[in-house]
Amino acid sequence: MLTNHYDYLIVGSGLFGATFAYRAKQAGRTCLVIDKRPHLGGNVYCEQVEGINVHKYGAHIFHTNNKQVWDFVNGIVPFNRYTNCPVANYKGELYNLPFNMNTFHQMWGVVTPAEAEAKIAEQRAAALAALNGREPQNLEEQALCLVGRDIYEKLIKGYTEKQWGRPCAELPAFIIRRLPVRMVYNNNYFNDAYQGIPIGGYNRLIEGLLEGVDTQVNTDFFADREKWEAVADKIVFTGKIDEYYNYCFGKLDYRTVRFETETIDTANYQGNAVINYTDRETPYTRVIEHKHFESFGQAVYDNPKTIISREYSTEWQDGMEPFYPINDDKNSALYEQYKQLADQETNVIFGGRLAEYKYYDMAPIIEKVMTLSV
Ligand code: FAD
Ligand code: UDP
Repeated sequence: MLTNHYDYLIVGSGLFGATFAYRAKQAGRTCLVIDKRPHLGGNVYCEQVEGINVHKYGAHIFHTNNKQVWDFVNGIVPFNRYTNCPVANYKGELYNLPFNMNTFHQMWGVVTPAEAEAKIAEQRAAALAALNGREPQNLEEQALCLVGRDIYEKLIKGYTEKQWGRPCAELPAFIIRRLPVRMVYNNNYFNDAYQGIPIGGYNRLIEGLLEGVDTQVNTDFFADREKWEAVADKIVFTGKIDEYYNYCFGKLDYRTVRFETETIDTANYQGNAVINYTDRETPYTRVIEHKHFESFGQAVYDNPKTIISREYSTEWQDGMEPFYPINDDKNSALYEQYKQLADQETNVIFGGRLAEYKYYDMAPIIEKVMTLSV
């Protein structure tokens, strides 16, 4: 029986809801956070297995250029120095990512940046000639212009088509534009000034944000909507925006990932947190070995077991986790219809990945919450 009346009902305890609750609490407001899952934390939640934090909803690496965001999260829980350096496995050939001097050396045997630049120029020439001055229209054209055919065929095509379930020629060019191409020997996947994993895992971050806030799990807002709408002056809604409006304009589409998680009796299975399988035939896109996010050097061997997850990218259907919004023309137009309704609400704030139908990384979520008045 709920006896309190709150300033805010926050639907969803992911990073958006938890950060909002933290800021509201700091400002003297009262909040109730509900979540339909059996745990708090949304997609950053980790499950402890064999003493290892398993990223249950996919590998999460925090990275940002924003010092205010970095100081904010480190004020809740200190972060470690994990640096993401994924390796690509193409039919047994290994390549460093992102595309950098190590990759070019492995691909073509080149040693100096001048040699690599000459090789890439030679590889790009055909693609640029085919464009004849116009902008790349799709991911395939964009990738061929950026790095040429060898890298496209071995490191991009298969991975991307598995990840998105569509041919590269039918995908938007912007997806690949964010991948860095570097003429230095540097395997750090991100260009940001700060990156890491919370020491002790992401649950510590969520626990710190929600300390002193009333929470209730296994609670779906839509199971008793009227009751929940009456419990607070305002609602912060971080669930699916189309569901909030009863799918009145139709359903938004997503991509999702199925995880096949396995405990293995070895201390160090693949020697890295992330290995991408970039050929088309291997059915999974990546294998994550979770212990490498939080143990380094000799400490890897302190635990004789390890946990890995194979990631299978799949089309989303009802009942699955809606992970990646599909920002194509059809879905973007549909979202705009819902957004027009949302913009008219005076007592509901829509925020986060599902409510804004936007592929947010973690740091921009926090940045966004920092701009809101509580
Ligand atoms: P969520 O974490 O999805 O939280 C929403 C919450 O609302 C959920 O807990 C859900 O159960 C709850 N909810 C929904 N509907 C209801 C309802 N009706 N009633 C009650 N509760 C409800 N970001 C990075 O910065 N680095 C990464 O490496 C990275 N990797 C990622 C990998 C994957 C596979 C995915 C999917 C995302 C990744 N992200 C990464 C993005 C990151 O997960 C998001 O930025 C962040 O988790 C979004 O937080 P959120 O609060 O908006 O959403
Ligand atoms: N990508 C690729 N090969 C790789 C890794 C990434 O072709 O080994 C492409 C793929 O199209 C992917 C895009 O680069 O969608 C962005 O990759 P990133 O790892 O940034 O995507 P995320 O999984 O974080 O969305």
